[in-house]
Amino acid sequence: MIPIAKAAGAWVHVDGAFGLVARASRRKRPLLEGVDQADSWATDGHKWLNVPFDCGIAFVRDREAHRAAMTIAASYIAANSGARDQIDWNPEWSRRGRGFAIYAAIRELGRRGLEDLVDRTCGYCERLVTGVGAMPGAEVVRLPHLNQGLVRFLDQRRGAIDADHDRRTDEVIAAINATGEAFFSPTTWLGRRAMRVSVVNWRTTDADVDRTLEAVKVVLARA
Ligand SMILES: *Cc1c(COP(=O)(O)O)cnc(C)c1O
Repeated sequence: MIPIAKAAGAWVHVDGAFGLVARASRRKRPLLEGVDQADSWATDGHKWLNVPFDCGIAFVRDREAHRAAMTIAASYIAANSGARDQIDWNPEWSRRGRGFAIYAAIRELGRRGLEDLVDRTCGYCERLVTGVGAMPGAEVVRLPHLNQGLVRFLDQRRGAIDADHDRRTDEVIAAINATGEAFFSPTTWLGRRAMRVSVVNWRTTDADVDRTLEAVKVVLARA
């Protein structure tokens, strides 16, 4: 789509708040092919990189357009045309050093560590979605492309309709959350209720996934 948009004179911006980081994974990189042709990207540090809120990053190919959109001059601000001044490149004049946390996270992880974080969380999501989806009374709604997928829970009574499955889905989600073992949020996908499976924390382990699957199994066996 980018060449088509460019041919029409459009600026192409990619909202990569979550997904852009998947470029760090050799396995997932093909999903982001062509993104390098965009004029600008936005991404977040406080999602997959796990740095504290609130940490967003913009990348703009056209340096002058970026500066012109963000810079604000005032007579009492000393300008030094020879040095980069952050007030020319972002919407704030005052802010804490968000860049430091990003730098520290990337230095600590390294290229392989970041790739491993992406692959690991994607793999856990896949295990959770397929594992829960295979349980009696559950089904897969969306397999994950990255680290998010959807499942739902079915009302086993004969003649149950979509509204019953929706109610059952909300009940099972509440029951899983009440165990304290895992936390899932409900969502609506194409008009049906579903459970959102999203794995992003760098501390999540294989054992956490096992425990979560067990908790779901116990809830489903209850009623
Ligand atoms: C999280 C998210 C946002 C919102 O970004 P914040 O920086 O957290 O406010 C926008 N777009 C997408 C695709 C997101 O995942």
